[in-house]
Amino acid sequence: MSDKHTLFIADLHLAADRPDITAAFLRFLRQQAVQADALYILGDLFEVWIGDDNPEPLLDTVATALATLSTQVPVYFIHGNRDFILRQAYASRAGMQLLPQQQVIDLYGTPTLIMHGDSLCTLDIAYQKFRKWWNQPWWQWLLLKTPLSYRQSLAAKARRKSAAHKARYKQQQQPQIMDVTPDEVPRVMAEAGVLKLIHGHTHRPAVHQLEVNGNAAQRYVLGDWYSQSSYLQVSADNWQLHFDTLT
Ligand code: MN
Repeated sequence: MSDKHTLFIADLHLAADRPDITAAFLRFLRQQAVQADALYILGDLFEVWIGDDNPEPLLDTVATALATLSTQVPVYFIHGNRDFILRQAYASRAGMQLLPQQQVIDLYGTPTLIMHGDSLCTLDIAYQKFRKWWNQPWWQWLLLKTPLSYRQSLAAKARRKSAAHKARYKQQQQPQIMDVTPDEVPRVMAEAGVLKLIHGHTHRPAVHQLEVNGNAAQRYVLGDWYSQSSYLQVSADNWQLHFDTLT
């Protein structure tokens, strides 16, 4: 691992009731991330985010570990649909630089679009309605003014609803609704002027070949960390998805 490389992760869904995932993440930071040129976290680092003022000890553990890494390796964060109200206060504690929802970065000479990926799932109408509403700055501002206990109960309700939403599509044999919309991908990539896209969200790690304006292009989907650890390592001549056991 002496070659220069950049690492990408998403969908860790860190939560107090899954200390095994947190342990794997802390190990990943100490062993892998420390050797990278940069670490990009493409959303849903946390299972739920109710505000930077949440006193949950897990948040401190993670902030301390990321801040330690950030003294040597730049750490970038794009919001997911679970942690979309993570704010500058926590990002600063964790040494993370917040990026916009979509960003084109230069990866060793290759312009690459990075995002969480939920915006690509346009067929999931119910979710897109939710997204449109919750993305409004005034609504987020208002939400963060409510008491912590209220936001905690709201988050518990949202987790139950999300689980029911996923189960419903599975039951209807329509899991593709929760995947990206095939036409949306080349459209978004052409608009950004790239032939490489990296995203998470769908929990379906893979490398997809496609065409953008007649050119061969690739879409890299990051894996979640529910039953394994998963990251993408990019160097000048090698893009590789890696998987590891949690323990
Ligand atoms: Mn997500």
